[in-house]
Amino acid sequence: LSERLSGVFDRLTKQGALSEDDVKTALREVRVALLEADVSLPVARDFVKAVQEKATGQAVTKSVTPGQQVVKIVHDELVHVLEGEGEPGELKVDNAPAPILMVGLQGGGKTTTTAKIAKRLKEKQGKRVLMASLDIYRPAAMQQLEVLGRQIGVDTLPIVEGQSALQIAKRAQQQATMGGYDVYMLDTAGRLQIDEKLMGEVEDVRNAVKPRETLLVVDGLTGQVAVEVAEEFDAKVGITGVVLTRMDGDGRGGAALSMRAVTGKPIKFVGLGEKMEALEEFRPEQIAGRILGMGDIVALVEKAQETIEAEQAERMMKRFQKGQFNMNDLKMQLEQMLKMGGMEGMMKMMPGMGKMAKQVEESGFDDTIFRHQIALIQSMTKKERANPALLQASRKKRIAAGAGQEVSELNKLLKMHRQMADMMKKMGKGGMLKQALKGMF
Ligand code: GDP
Ligand code: MG
Repeated sequence: LSERLSGVFDRLTKQGALSEDDVKTALREVRVALLEADVSLPVARDFVKAVQEKATGQAVTKSVTPGQQVVKIVHDELVHVLEGEGEPGELKVDNAPAPILMVGLQGGGKTTTTAKIAKRLKEKQGKRVLMASLDIYRPAAMQQLEVLGRQIGVDTLPIVEGQSALQIAKRAQQQATMGGYDVYMLDTAGRLQIDEKLMGEVEDVRNAVKPRETLLVVDGLTGQVAVEVAEEFDAKVGITGVVLTRMDGDGRGGAALSMRAVTGKPIKFVGLGEKMEALEEFRPEQIAGRILGMGDIVALVEKAQETIEAEQAERMMKRFQKGQFNMNDLKMQLEQMLKMGGMEGMMKMMPGMGKMAKQVEESGFDDTIFRHQIALIQSMTKKERANPALLQASRKKRIAAGAGQEVSELNKLLKMHRQMADMMKKMGKGGMLKQALKGMF
């Protein structure tokens, strides 16, 4: 969208206010961009209409261009549509044992998401969770949940061959009650497309256990199909929320907008990978930026502007492009990340930065050790910061001791620094760095 719109906006920049024609021209492009992002046609149409009404006749704020003004209006409206009532990521799990029913098509990520949510409930809310697989059709489906349960330390209902989905659901209810569980999660079977038998089965289970939450799990990369699935499930079993999976992929996430517009139900979580940790609360701002094709850049720009001097950034960028990235730079980046609230999630959402986020993740990087890493760098001399190659065993010992940490922590930091420096160098050559940093600062 950004590319597409820039042409239109260049023209808009030369004028003073948003005329109906300006808005129409810009919104035609917005509509195409929405469709490209897999937003369903009727939803895109309605959305554009709503924006048109809001935008036309609006005075252009003095300090911004008309183009920026339209982007802001489109962005704000996207966020508005995406926002559901209640806190994202919050589930109703009072009145123990609270049943949570997971529904969706086969392969959408139900089983994975069931375990991810169980882990989250356990770790973030201290809940005792029982998981049960009602998937009596797919071979090894029940074992899959059992394996995940063992991995995350959450109990699963013992497998009994030959029972119907309804029987298993009732057994889970009993076991949860008798066993003193706070929550029990029912992972249902899925089909490749919606079918009556499956729907009937899910309805029976719903009637029997009366779930506190019925979560529809859908692959965020499927556009139009996702909408039909959502409509059907909502009509038949009544969903209370949506989880969008595979948002770590290349898709633009247009399904999020369609889903909200069509069901009116809140999107609770997004799945960002196969690992058990890869589940995040849904953040409308982030997805809005992504649908617009700018990653999280809108938010990054807003946040970054508050926290860094433009001049400083410019100087830094020039050096990075030349492949110079020393410990002082890393320290500044770390401090920046601290202010911006952690980089992993943000990087994942930024075009082209996913790979880097993964490397950062693999080197054991997380918010809680930001401060430790900064302390390590502070414990280095000026010379060492400028040239980390100087760091031999004795120096390393001194630095680690100075920061009250282990040498192994320092080694991790050095490894991360090397990886980042390599990445910067590579990106600098392709001109990508400039793009990425432009977004950030
Ligand atoms: P189900 O048939 O709906 O139960 O789907 P599964 O939970 O078995 O998931 C199908 C596949 O998708 C598995 O290989 C999962 O690891 C993968 N998967 C699930 N959620 C995500 C996600 O958020 N991102 C990615 N990349 N893969 C996912
Ligand atoms: Mg499954």
